[in-house]
Amino acid sequence: MGDAMSTRHVAFPALLACALALLPAPAPAAAEATRFDYRLAPQEIAPGVHVFTGLREDFSPANGGNIVNTGFIVGSTGVIVIDTGPSRRYGEQMLAAIRRVTPLPVVLTINTHHHPDHFLGNQAFPAATLAALPETQRGIQKDGEAFNENLYRMAGDWMEGTERVAPTQPLAAGRRTVGGRDIEIVALDGHTPADFVLIDHASGTVFAGDLLFHDRAATTPHADLAHWLAALERLATLPARQWVPGHGDVTRDAAAIAQTRDYLEWIAATMREGAESGLDMTEMLARPIPARFRGLAEVEREYRRSVVHLFPAAEQAVLEKAHAR
Ligand SMILES: [Zn+2]
Repeated sequence: MGDAMSTRHVAFPALLACALALLPAPAPAAAEATRFDYRLAPQEIAPGVHVFTGLREDFSPANGGNIVNTGFIVGSTGVIVIDTGPSRRYGEQMLAAIRRVTPLPVVLTINTHHHPDHFLGNQAFPAATLAALPETQRGIQKDGEAFNENLYRMAGDWMEGTERVAPTQPLAAGRRTVGGRDIEIVALDGHTPADFVLIDHASGTVFAGDLLFHDRAATTPHADLAHWLAALERLATLPARQWVPGHGDVTRDAAAIAQTRDYLEWIAATMREGAESGLDMTEMLARPIPARFRGLAEVEREYRRSVVHLFPAAEQAVLEKAHAR
């Protein structure tokens, strides 16, 4: 491009240049807007509680990373945002969609955990409102840019201009009024080292983040399964009339908690039994998925990933047990 515009062309006729200037200008912004439009349409699941439901898929150039649920809660004086999606564009489009619902300011923008589909839209929101549990802040600070690059490889040009912005405000557990809304923060872990759960008391809505997957196989790259199962126990005791999972449809049925628990218990048992009977990685990868999990979206792929994430530690545990004897 630089060479094509070299000095050989300085004699470009002025008249032609003027004629070209009169042609209608192309509209790159408009073309880009259609090409990279996530078509975010919030669903109001309770008065003032809105959710953007992502696809039950893996990251791809076709979906631009829109595989995650995000949401916002409109109070009497401000808006609480829960997760900001996988890219700068997603965050911007999310904020535009919020603006079509309410003119109230965003007062709190929460990242439920440090996975890229939950925080890479942060750029679009006021920096001072960005908040997360301290361990999540550290995770985004430490791994955020690597996650960003990885997501760029998986989702492509949708990610253009996306930068990691780590939340500066630490969140602590407890009940408080934010934006005129009675909310409670529950600090758990297991899917990652810090998993945020939000209760909106007026509506009985629980935003469970990725502790809860619904009809979609759970992802485990940073999982501690024992902690995760304990977190699910806690989730089941919360005063909920409906749950917003990190991935999959919103539900009023606690069966989603049982489904995630059942799947994780099976993963844990499969890793342990495989290690105890001396299977190798290839044999583990080839193990069949039980019929009751075959309806979960992405289960084949997630199971194989989980073997890679979790089997080495299961083997290690068996070795240590043998040495201890
Ligand atoms: Zn996650």
